[in-house]
Amino acid sequence: MLKSKPVIALYTNRQQGSKMSNLSRRAFMGSGAAAAMLLSGCRTGKMFGTRKQPNILFIFSDDHAQAAISAYGKHLKDAAPTPHLDRIAKEGAIFERSYCANSICGPSRACILTGKHSHINGYIDNERCRFNGDQPTFPKYLQQAGYQTAIIGKWHLVSDPQGFDYWEVLPGQGSYYNPDFLQQGGGKKRYQGYCTDLVTDFSLEWLKNRRDPNKPFMLMCQHKAPHRNWLPPERYYDLFKGVDLPEPATLFDDYSNRSQALKEQEMSIEKDFHWGHDMLLHGKPTDPRFLDRYGNGEYDRMTDEQKKCFDAAYGPENESLKKALAEGRMDDKALTRWKYQRYIKNYLRCIRAVDDSVGRLLDYLDESGLAEDTIVIYSSDQGFYLGEHGWYDKRWMFEESFAMPFLIRWKDVIKPGSRSQALIQNIDYAPTFMELAGLQPASDMQGRSLVPLFKRDGVAPSTWRKSIYYAYYGERTHHVARHDGVATSRYKLFFMPDMRGNERWQLFDLLEDPQEMRSVHMDTAYAQVFADLKSEYYRLRREYNVNSSIIPCSRTVQDWWLERFTQKNQECRKTPGCQLLFLGDSITHGFDRGGKEVWDKNFARYKAVNLGFSGDRTEHLLWRIKYSSFDKMRPKVAVMMIGTNNTGHLQCPANESALGVKACIDELRNRLPETKILLLAIFPRGADKNDPLRKLNDRINSIIKGYADGVNVHYMDINHVFLNDEGVLPKEIMPDLLHPVKTGYERWTAAITPRLKELGL
Ligand code: CA
Repeated sequence: MLKSKPVIALYTNRQQGSKMSNLSRRAFMGSGAAAAMLLSGCRTGKMFGTRKQPNILFIFSDDHAQAAISAYGKHLKDAAPTPHLDRIAKEGAIFERSYCANSICGPSRACILTGKHSHINGYIDNERCRFNGDQPTFPKYLQQAGYQTAIIGKWHLVSDPQGFDYWEVLPGQGSYYNPDFLQQGGGKKRYQGYCTDLVTDFSLEWLKNRRDPNKPFMLMCQHKAPHRNWLPPERYYDLFKGVDLPEPATLFDDYSNRSQALKEQEMSIEKDFHWGHDMLLHGKPTDPRFLDRYGNGEYDRMTDEQKKCFDAAYGPENESLKKALAEGRMDDKALTRWKYQRYIKNYLRCIRAVDDSVGRLLDYLDESGLAEDTIVIYSSDQGFYLGEHGWYDKRWMFEESFAMPFLIRWKDVIKPGSRSQALIQNIDYAPTFMELAGLQPASDMQGRSLVPLFKRDGVAPSTWRKSIYYAYYGERTHHVARHDGVATSRYKLFFMPDMRGNERWQLFDLLEDPQEMRSVHMDTAYAQVFADLKSEYYRLRREYNVNSSIIPCSRTVQDWWLERFTQKNQECRKTPGCQLLFLGDSITHGFDRGGKEVWDKNFARYKAVNLGFSGDRTEHLLWRIKYSSFDKMRPKVAVMMIGTNNTGHLQCPANESALGVKACIDELRNRLPETKILLLAIFPRGADKNDPLRKLNDRINSIIKGYADGVNVHYMDINHVFLNDEGVLPKEIMPDLLHPVKTGYERWTAAITPRLKELGL
């Protein structure tokens, strides 16, 4: 299905790093105004009429759904108003079709900083990634343009912030109560108080006393709120008390008419809420319909006084729940409704404090006279499910978590009360900030500056994008299937590479089905739409240089895979004398099964370790090589064969799979520089040489043989040992025409043994 795609050039982190200084220089010097500014040592470039370089106040929260901002006008607008956030929209613009590139915390932040999709900036998930802060980011460019830059609050990118003159950030997820803050000079400091208020205090303190009044500023005030586990400030414990907040129409979604993948998630209000962590109850659950993996860590951080206050507010309601449970008065539906109310109230109480923060910041801009020259932007790293589809959390490309809030006030430029329908995405922020600072957006950024839209009160010019690319790479947490896709103003297409057959695709018509309750990809009335969207999807993948074969991805969502990975890491650590490694998929994995006797007889003497994992594609092996416990290993030879599942599962074009093999070789060279790699041609599959998948493997082989340098990487094609003279694959050797039985493993071993000896075994 991907066959028509041309060769795709791919960036690696290393390439990006080495390009950086040139890119920065080019981006900066590319702007006439900015270059003149630099030469004259003056910051007052005249970009917008007579305006100076504007200050930028970028207020950002975590997991704030559009539905929880009343200006968006969704189902909670009357019950939970957000007057200060609404003020930004009222005095500026609200973007109603604002989306993220990857709906999860760290990745969204990395997209924002770099202006690039996750597979390019390298921060694809929250599982193992660490942000490569050496790459170009918009705060660095703004510094070069003469801005003073600061970030206060949530950071969540593991490595220390770069590109900021001042920073004070939360470690990891941070805490709501009495939070620690990482200090720019090293170490961390604990403050007593409520996180949202502290982040606001520190931001105001920076504006008042730490700011250089001779420079334009860019301040990122980044809240932890309203991230799980939703702990409100004391002043809002009683907000919504005695009120039932409206339920979304899809709270009891049964996931029919869509991919099976929807039923496999673990983010449902009914099944996946923890007694202490999410529901803020004390002790052990008194009912099996609650999970109990974590306690209420926020309560544990509170002072005695804070605890007293919390217990006074939540105690009576908690007791009445326990009583109702004990008396059997809570059927499943009633309990789900109770959980929803507990969740949504706490979530919205957290939002109320964020709204207060926005109010305080706007007030200060007014009082200080900064309001005129300061652009205010409010956004959040992604949206969130507020009970829609029965869920909390994010990750999916469904509208509620795919959409991000985006509000902007830019006095005298954007007409107050503007509402935009333009398709915008978080990769657009970095080029936007660059243009606001008078720079030409960096040419390698994938997003587009929103400044032309701002100048037209949110109306997109005819050349504006008509579709958005999205990719979520999967994580064990919440078991949401990996997927990517395309969205247009009316339709949305999902592709889930780890599902099978028709379960892989979902197509929604948002005009007819705004709640995304029925996939129409099998509906003949949508055949043309489906075909058009697929072609747009592949076009976007080309535009953004997406080759899934080289994007390291785990399969930790599958228990056996995670267990094998953990066990193999132990084996690697405990086998320091290992001289031989095998890396691959099920064919290599089979040395543990049908090939066990052959392995023991031939390879045990080398303390060989089998890193074959059934079902792995190049992207999975790449992830494993990256994160395997190789530190104490010095194997002489690593035998690698990978790629037949790129062919079998996805019919990836040969050049893409081959680049996946190359990425595995490069990463293995990086991890084990002294180890010789014996790269094997992908084994033959299918009955005979006309089998289309065999032919595809042959095309990959014709490319990967070129990766051998005869020094560190050696190539062998032993495929003839499995085939008869006509190229037929005998079932005695591979009964399923893919996996060898014992005879096959014997032939494989015999064919490579002389070469292994030559390579030093
Ligand atoms: Ca988030």
